Amino acid sequence: MTAVRVSTGSLPGWEEVDRLVVEAHRDALETHEGEVATYIPRLASVDPELFGVSVAEVDGAVHTAGDAHATFSIQSISKAFVYALVCEELGHDTVRERIGVNNTGLAFNSVMAIELNDGHPMNPMVNAGAIATTALVPARSTDERWERIQRGLSAFAGRRLELDGEVYTSEADTNQRNRAIGILLQAYGRIDADPLAAVDVYTRQCSLLVSATDLAVMGATLADGGVNPVTGERVVAASVARDTLAVLASTGLYERSGEWLFEIGLPGKSGVAGGIVTVSPGKGGIGVFSPRLDRVGNSVRGQRATRFLSRSLGLDVFASDTHEHGPYPYTREKDGR
Ligand code: GLN
Repeated sequence: MTAVRVSTGSLPGWEEVDRLVVEAHRDALETHEGEVATYIPRLASVDPELFGVSVAEVDGAVHTAGDAHATFSIQSISKAFVYALVCEELGHDTVRERIGVNNTGLAFNSVMAIELNDGHPMNPMVNAGAIATTALVPARSTDERWERIQRGLSAFAGRRLELDGEVYTSEADTNQRNRAIGILLQAYGRIDADPLAAVDVYTRQCSLLVSATDLAVMGATLADGGVNPVTGERVVAASVARDTLAVLASTGLYERSGEWLFEIGLPGKSGVAGGIVTVSPGKGGIGVFSPRLDRVGNSVRGQRATRFLSRSLGLDVFASDTHEHGPYPYTREKDGR
């Protein structure tokens, strides 16, 4: 087997990464913009000042600043990891055909996006695609489906992730829109399992508690070819990690995914509780948590800290540099330089 080649370079040394994580945290503390999500009532009671930043390297080193160990519900970030688990089970082509990989350009909970695309859920990072993805997790019962998801996401984090019962109940009581999306997908023949049961499992997966450090380790697992760099467990195949990152690059930050890629140059996924996971393939994962969100639902401080780290750690996958050449005009012969 030939070795997989990943994007160039490596992270700076331990002390430098540690210093930059602290600096990214300090820098983003300057902004107080954004609003905490309230459409899930329980999320409105969070302390808006909580702010944690964490970087996990593919060699297992973990760096933290601020409230990196404070827990919050993973929300939409779960979509990325459930998608990876389903790709691992069903393979690239089936999942591509059933779910799709194109951005909708519309809000994450859009019903119109489904209608505009003849019932196609479009991609796994919006609610329609995520509910359809959850329904694809192979299982004989809803409980088994939930257990597999909880176990799989825990393997990404390297510790058992627990449900926040209050967030779950609060969302389950108010998620009429997601239930409507599930039933609409069923009407279009895009979901085989019981749609309301799939929405329930989806609501549970969104209510799993994680910290910024958990997100960093989960991201580092996708950066490390599917092996959790802290526990050493292989969670998914390297090709699945790669496919997941490719989907995140174009869809991870909702209708602002293009701006995110332009500014930060890395695949990432955000959630409405204020978390963002970002992955630097072959290098590591970044986890951030700050509950104040921009208009489309992405953490304001989280975006700023991630941008700081992408630039200062040299993570941007589109960064271009000039190669050292001999005198111009220059052509490279097959065997000589
Ligand atoms: N559970 C939330 C929902 O379905 C997740 C949304 C999000 O994080 N963007 O609405």
